[in-house]
Amino acid sequence: MDCIFCKIAAKEAEAEILFENDEVLSFLDINPVNYGHALVIPKKHFDNFLEVPQAKLDGIIKAVQIVSAAVKSSLNPDGINLVVNNGKAAGQSVFHFHFHIIPRFHDDDFKFRLNLKQYKNGFMKETGDKIRLNVKTRNNNE
Ligand code: 5GP
Ligand code: ZN
Repeated sequence: MDCIFCKIAAKEAEAEILFENDEVLSFLDINPVNYGHALVIPKKHFDNFLEVPQAKLDGIIKAVQIVSAAVKSSLNPDGINLVVNNGKAAGQSVFHFHFHIIPRFHDDDFKFRLNLKQYKNGFMKETGDKIRLNVKTRNNNE
């Protein structure tokens, strides 16, 4: 499979590595929103968040917290965004699951462009009902 993050995990492609253990790797994003923008990936390939087995999430989240804390201590940003893009429509461009750790500064001029909607006529409950039904199914399958 031609996946750049698999190549980085296998050390077949270069990256500025920040953290590594048997299952997880963190390295600097090649086109950072701000300097220090890091990525955290499972070494094993999963296309996106929903494909990651629950047993693997713990290790990934721990690495995200370790690297976020290190970015905070070393670069002293005003804030940090943790971002996961799932699917092309959500902005995913590398289809190997990854967390973005993005150091943010008050004056960095990076904005999510929001176009917020409002629920009308019971549509919030209707939407909630749809999702809850599936939460229940999945939770029962655990
Ligand atoms: P996505 O858009 O899929 O959420 O994020 C993919 C990220 O991977 C982008 O921010 C992009 O800059 C970064 N990226 C793509 N190719 C490479 C690469 O070869 N090396 C590194 N370090 N980052 C990459
Ligand atoms: Zn991959």
